[in-house]
Amino acid sequence: MISLADLPIRDDLRGRTPYGAPQKPVRIALNVNENTHPIPQRVADDIVAALAEAVSGVNRYPDREFLGLRESLAGYLGHALGPQNIWAANGSNEVLQHLLQAFGGPGRSVLGFPPTYSMHSIIAASTGTRWVEWRRDPGFEISPDTAVRGIEEADPDVVFFCSPNNPTGTGVSLDTIAAAYEATRGLVVVDEAYVEFAPAGLPSALTLLPGRERLVVSRTMSKAFAFAGVRLGYLAADPAVVDALRLVRLPYHLSALTQAAATAALAHAGEMLAMVDDIKAQRDRLLLELPKLGFPVWPSWANFVLFGGVADPHAVFEALLAQDILIRDLGIPHHLRVTAGTEQETTAFLAAIAKLVG
Ligand code: PMP
Repeated sequence: MISLADLPIRDDLRGRTPYGAPQKPVRIALNVNENTHPIPQRVADDIVAALAEAVSGVNRYPDREFLGLRESLAGYLGHALGPQNIWAANGSNEVLQHLLQAFGGPGRSVLGFPPTYSMHSIIAASTGTRWVEWRRDPGFEISPDTAVRGIEEADPDVVFFCSPNNPTGTGVSLDTIAAAYEATRGLVVVDEAYVEFAPAGLPSALTLLPGRERLVVSRTMSKAFAFAGVRLGYLAADPAVVDALRLVRLPYHLSALTQAAATAALAHAGEMLAMVDDIKAQRDRLLLELPKLGFPVWPSWANFVLFGGVADPHAVFEALLAQDILIRDLGIPHHLRVTAGTEQETTAFLAAIAKLVG
């Protein structure tokens, strides 16, 4: 058996590790920030009907411009956006990859603020983009000053923000994003994968788009929309940015089935998002109950909670797994992350971890 090191692989990929969140068949999976509620049956029926219709045409390539889906996504986002402002791909991971293929690459750099979503640096590596890190302020905040100083130091081609941030749950203020935009000559990307779980009325970075043609807001149907298995991520930006992404996407990258399923789901956006309030309530329960058990929490605007005070995160992770409960150990000392599940799942997690400390 040969190993990876024996292959004529790109030098910059040697020694790297792939994304590796454990996928285990457990009773309660609260480890990858999925929406643990199934989609409503009525919506599922409509999606199946749309898929049946799409299947009858799969002898042909799908609409390469996925115009119907882009119209639906623009309609969902509002903010006077049209299909020309929208791009989509197989998950927002692929959207981010398209962005770095077009705006990053060899000889270029992307600035990030760890701890943040691990795929940001992995996609940087796979596209040959240098990943540069800048420290956050206390409490995982990023003040406008901090962002600007990082940009002045690194002079990046792309800046990645994640708001609410995975894994901390904290948001990035619009002041910080606007200041970063002014300070950089590069592209500013705001990953808003979890934004539907943020406090109601809190403005999205979408409100900053007018007049800022280097600003990109990335979203996904994987979280609030309970659509992770379909793989549909998207972004809103100036039409020129969308044009740039056409240069790097593979033709017909969104299958006819993906387009049909996502378009059908978006026609039921209200029903698809009905569980968001319930999930936020379970998150707030975690924020309230974990400190009572001796685990201080970081404030979260997302569907997960990062908690500290864990003497041995690996041991707690394993002890929960032994009870068929999977959460996430991200290697942050004395911390673990848990997704807000259904009421029942959240209750089971809280009871299990209470027993561990009791
Ligand atoms: N951005 C963030 C911050 C995430 O946490 C995730 C998934 N965990 C993604 C993007 C990617 O999601 P998807 O590819 O399913 O859209």
